[in-house]
Amino acid sequence: MSPSLAAMRSGSSYVCTACRTRSLATRRTTPRNATYSTASVQVRRPINVAIIGSGPAGFYSAYRLLKRLPDARITMFEQLPVPYGLARYGVAPDHPEVKKCTETLITVAQEQPINFNFVGNCPIGPGKGELPLTAITPYFDATLFAYGASKDKRLGIPGEDLKGVVSARSFVGWYNGLPEYADLPVDLTAGDTAVVIGQGNVALDVTRILLAPLDELRKTDINEETIEALSRSRVRDVKVIGRRGPLQAPYTIKELRELMNLPDVGFAPPPEGWEDLLQIPRKKLPRQLKRIAELLEKGSKTGSDSSAKAWQLGYLRSPAAFLSQGGEHLDAVGFEKTEYARPLSELLTGDPQSDLNALRAAKVQSTGRKSLVHANLAFRSVGYQSEPLPGMSEIGVPFDAARGVIPNDRWGRVLSPTEGVGGVAAALTAGHVPGMYAAGWVKRGPTGVIASTMDDAFLTADVVAGDWEGHARFMNHGDGLEMKEGYDGVRRELESRSIRSVSWSDWEKIDVEERRRGKKRGKEREKIRRVDEMLALLDS
Ligand code: NAP
Repeated sequence: MSPSLAAMRSGSSYVCTACRTRSLATRRTTPRNATYSTASVQVRRPINVAIIGSGPAGFYSAYRLLKRLPDARITMFEQLPVPYGLARYGVAPDHPEVKKCTETLITVAQEQPINFNFVGNCPIGPGKGELPLTAITPYFDATLFAYGASKDKRLGIPGEDLKGVVSARSFVGWYNGLPEYADLPVDLTAGDTAVVIGQGNVALDVTRILLAPLDELRKTDINEETIEALSRSRVRDVKVIGRRGPLQAPYTIKELRELMNLPDVGFAPPPEGWEDLLQIPRKKLPRQLKRIAELLEKGSKTGSDSSAKAWQLGYLRSPAAFLSQGGEHLDAVGFEKTEYARPLSELLTGDPQSDLNALRAAKVQSTGRKSLVHANLAFRSVGYQSEPLPGMSEIGVPFDAARGVIPNDRWGRVLSPTEGVGGVAAALTAGHVPGMYAAGWVKRGPTGVIASTMDDAFLTADVVAGDWEGHARFMNHGDGLEMKEGYDGVRRELESRSIRSVSWSDWEKIDVEERRRGKKRGKEREKIRRVDEMLALLDS
């Protein structure tokens, strides 16, 4: 084992001050049998790393890299003029405690003003106002892709483009002030029923925002246009419908409980009744599922009959079509009823962990029976999807379109299917594209809360640091002694393309203005929703 790997394995434990979550430093982050390619780098000079994306995966990677390699130089690229990605535009406004994770990047920027550069308003690509990857990589030893999932999955069923069918991702972006969706045409006045398809936490976020008391939302950083639209909303009834059962849905107990506890909002039990849906006696359920089953059965304090607003979880219904009488606007959602492929009781072995896995993974099959829910508004909330960045193939970085990830060795090293036997743990570096790494959703798919993204980003950063200390091959190998230009080279590329990039201190000016606007309304901030307005503020 190389000395650096030994140091890495026995490394001290970091605590992220922003979220108080223990890091992975005590966990083994490199496979036992990892090998490193040509050991031609003789002297360890500071590494120069480009991080693409400033959301949780990006900022946790930067934070950890600078802990592991304090002299590292990091340049972080972000397509918007503002940092934080999903922490700013994905986390629900009524979850301010989750947004505190952004303090990690503030710590990095403030403690490392020399070693860290933020390059905002810099989309990656060949077009006007964009910076190609080929204009970035020559200046760095490593590129770490942490740009997350920029699209949502589609269902591929008839009527998906009708007016009234809205992607949950765009709705979340709209109420969180994401510039891309500033003008999203969401009509909350078309009818009193909304259907949400999918039962993950995004589906529950959407449901909560539709039903939560406005006075509570007003205190958050939800944008004013959303408050205005919600104040005119006619939606009284939200049906959150999943294709599998209550024990398979990916919602988490905290988010379920929040909805159950919304004041003056009732929860209507599903028409089938819980016994038929749950199928298994409570005492035989693994602990996590037992808690969910109990919470669902207990329901909300407010009865759905007596409340002005209500929500319901519908199960075992797979969306089949969005229907319209006039052909333009949604009138109903058609479902095909499903049933468990095997009785759930047959999946139990008595071992809590394998029972949990088996029940969570239980499959369903179509019954051929149909059902219809009349609604003028439907949210498609069936998960996010990552896409390749333009020009990735030109720098040798593949993309697995079927899985929506950059192929990697689990630790974060990008693997090329055309080089060596990559993907096999025993030959990790055989297919490793030198100097290329990935973290977060683009590395492992769009699942997990911010804490799991943090773990994952720390893992990748540890591997980058370990590879550097272990003299692995990096980008632009040369003799390995010459310091890469990093941000200085990038600055020239930006200037030659007249890209008005946004520095960290620029962002701080936007931040101050947003806080000023928020203070006037008695809230933490009022986000600026248009890129032009952000840039005008900086250049005025
Ligand atoms: P998700 O958790 O993967 O849930 C996707 C839902 O869509 C599932 O119910 C899934 O059903 C369903 N689905 C997928 N394809 C479908 C299809 N073709 N037809 C019908 N239903 C389909 O995704 P998400 O809600 O977008 O959340 C993404 C990640 O962000 C999750 O890990 C989530 O926990 C996290 N997140 C966390 C928070 C929070 O901590 N408060 C908030 C938001 C998001 P199946 O299970 O049957 O596939």
